[in-house]
Amino acid sequence: MEFKSEYLQRVYDKVVKTNPGEPEFIQAVGEVLESLEPVVAKDSSYEENGIIDRIVEPERMISFRVSWVDDNGKVQVNRGYRCQFNSAIGPYKGGLRLHPSVCPSVIKFLGFEQIFKNSLTSLPMGGGKGGSNFDPKGKSDGEIMRFCQSFMTELSKHIGADTDVPAGDIGTGAREIGYMFGQYKRLRNEFTGVLTGKGLSYGGSLARTEATGYGLLYFTEEMMNVMKNDSVAGKTIVVSGSGNVAIYATEKATQLGGKVVALSDSNGYIYDPNGINLDVVKQIKEVERKRIKEYVDRVDGATYTEGCKGIWTIPCDIALPCATQNEIDAESAEILIKNGTKVVAEGANMPSTPEAIAKFQAAGLLFGPAKAANAGGVATSGLEMSQNSERLSWTFEEVDAKLKNIMVNIFHNAYNASKEYSEEGNLVAGANIAGFLKVADAMKWQGIAY
Ligand code: NDP
Repeated sequence: MEFKSEYLQRVYDKVVKTNPGEPEFIQAVGEVLESLEPVVAKDSSYEENGIIDRIVEPERMISFRVSWVDDNGKVQVNRGYRCQFNSAIGPYKGGLRLHPSVCPSVIKFLGFEQIFKNSLTSLPMGGGKGGSNFDPKGKSDGEIMRFCQSFMTELSKHIGADTDVPAGDIGTGAREIGYMFGQYKRLRNEFTGVLTGKGLSYGGSLARTEATGYGLLYFTEEMMNVMKNDSVAGKTIVVSGSGNVAIYATEKATQLGGKVVALSDSNGYIYDPNGINLDVVKQIKEVERKRIKEYVDRVDGATYTEGCKGIWTIPCDIALPCATQNEIDAESAEILIKNGTKVVAEGANMPSTPEAIAKFQAAGLLFGPAKAANAGGVATSGLEMSQNSERLSWTFEEVDAKLKNIMVNIFHNAYNASKEYSEEGNLVAGANIAGFLKVADAMKWQGIAY
């Protein structure tokens, strides 16, 4: 990538050189640095304090062996990670991903993004991320438990309620968080808010399950309202994925009067022109833990197509990618634009490639980047931490109202930053800049110890 600023160019080139074989991480750094051009041009103190040089280097990257015994008595070995990227504004905070694709590049890209996202929530949380290349698919409950216990046996040495508070992500839901929390408590003999996404009976927050999907829609609604005097009501919507984020994005979109017509998993997608029946989806995914194609056996008029990419060929007003990184490439972006899509808001982390984002922006679509649009999950995790510290639990309505308020503020912070530093309405730049400024300021105040 080429930068106007000689400082940004130097930092970026060093990142490329010192992180070989880490394309996702380099992509995430490049995207943020590009947004920071007007910031470093305006204020030389960022260079003088080496802020950008430091912000692209994790404070700590932990990698460890996770061995466990499968149901056949065979020893299995996976690799676990925790990237403690930046603690300038609070304890490290970010999810744990369990997926075969997990590697240092993926964990570092997610940890890096998390710094700015957490800052945008306005809550005191630093950035981190972790996980393992363990594949939960097809594993028995006993295998999941033994893996989670072994994983936490090592991770417990590095985390704590005031140090680093992990949460769920792909492959890590309430079940996995429960097994990990139980193991942490057993090892440390303390009951603390060391993880978020916990069950309600042991310190979890109401509305955490819904938070990322609901937050995505609160953000989308505000963005459409302010920038186009429009709303979700009456719109046709395509949502990719069928996990936590996708399910609750679908729920809130439907509540707001939109019609969601498609969902997917990593094998293929379903299309239901009558609007997705979410009760059926929840039964398949949350209760039976089966594949999304089961839906067509239970709902008349729905069809299933193998392969994920085709979902973006379905005509829609609003596209909400909620599955995984780089799921919308330039080709899919072109098809969406051609089909008249007006809004893209990212539920997943980095689901659009840089080429796809460039096409959306050039075509004048409203584009809500992940850092801002999907921050509702971590924001509500922050609210769970507050409740744990207070030893109180708030009602669903209280948490939901705070979440909505946070998402509306995130939109306005990103929008205002886009007006001040970049082109009005460029929320990619706006979110990166607004998130960066607070962290950078805290880093300046705290001196150069890291
Ligand atoms: P889940 O594990 O609950 O669901 C993930 C969904 O995406 C599944 O339907 C999965 O299908 C699908 N998927 C995973 N990998 C691929 C792939 N390579 N191609 C196509 N589909 C795929 O995860 P979440 O819903 O929690 O997370 C989804 C995204 O949202 C991730 O990017 C995550 O980082 C992000 N996110 C999540 C937050 C949260 O609170 N949960 C907060 C902020 C961001 P399959 O079952 O076939 O694997």
